[in-house]
Amino acid sequence: MSNEQRRAELLDGARVAEEIKREVAAEVASLKLEHGFVPCLAVIRVGEDPASAVYVRNKVRTSEAVGLRSEHHALPAETTTEELLELVKTLNAMTDVDGLLVQLPLPANVDERLVIEAIDPAKDVDGFHPVNIGRLSLGQQTLAPCTPVGIIELLERSSVQLRGANACVVGRSQIVGRPLAQLLLQRDATVTICHSRTRDLPSITSRADILIAAIGRAGFIRAEHIKPGAIVVDVGINRVTDEAVARDFFGDEAEKRIESIAERGYTLVGDVHPAEADRVAGKRTPVPGGVGLLTVAALMRNTLVAARRRRGL
Ligand code: NDP
Repeated sequence: MSNEQRRAELLDGARVAEEIKREVAAEVASLKLEHGFVPCLAVIRVGEDPASAVYVRNKVRTSEAVGLRSEHHALPAETTTEELLELVKTLNAMTDVDGLLVQLPLPANVDERLVIEAIDPAKDVDGFHPVNIGRLSLGQQTLAPCTPVGIIELLERSSVQLRGANACVVGRSQIVGRPLAQLLLQRDATVTICHSRTRDLPSITSRADILIAAIGRAGFIRAEHIKPGAIVVDVGINRVTDEAVARDFFGDEAEKRIESIAERGYTLVGDVHPAEADRVAGKRTPVPGGVGLLTVAALMRNTLVAARRRRGL
């Protein structure tokens, strides 16, 4: 096959997300049948951030689809830290609430750290509480953040060998890069974490068998960053509004993307340059249709896990 025709195989996030949701739905049904309860996820949203509203709607809708109960608490932007802490305390105390998450980001007037630390670690289905992060770093049983959990599921269910692999994570955020590095380490990968101060990034990333980009910069990872045949996981979600940029990123798929810019004003691209990754990588995740779908599926699983553990099942 010539270089021009070469195309990385796509890792199917949609298939794996559906698989996880089907498994959760079956377990929820059997909990109801055998133990007479339905796990409940409570979601708190503060203010009117439109992206948060979309994420929360999706979480509530998916909960219903897998048979979980869900509670959505939408609070006004003026909510104070104290008021939010009060609600968290109430939901912590409710025995029939199994999972509790506060959609981030919170408005600037709210102390995010205090709120996260107030959540009962046993209900912390986002895995952001310091106790859960500590347990994750110690390699203990925990609730781990959903995006990293989803990525590991995708890799394992796509038969990607993690043990002994050189895995490179670009990005060290609390919600993606750091916890993902821990989960990879637990699975015996040799893990390198890169960030904005890393010197000569391509020389490091191009040694990775598994390269994960969680940066927040459109198409940042290019051919020079990728080892030939590597598995490339693209966590980024960025908007492209410029036709010429879309043409550069999407190669022969560009027309479809340009139509989307005309219709919606933007198209989505990850942190990996898709056309260049296609030429070099062995497998890669698409955006959309890759990691994004797995995050919500992992949240459903975390809720189920929290319910089982809390109730000793
Ligand atoms: P953050 O902004 O919290 O972290 C970005 C990381 O990238 C930082 O560690 C930063 O380094 C690093 N970085 C920035 N520039 C460079 C550079 N030039 N070279 C190397 N590293 C760099 O982002 P998140 O982790 O929250 O999100 C990353 C992306 O993933 C975003 O596009 C976000 O939208 C997406 N996302 C997608 C999810 C999904 O479900 N698909 C879920 C969560 C996020 P430093 O620490 O030095 O600043």
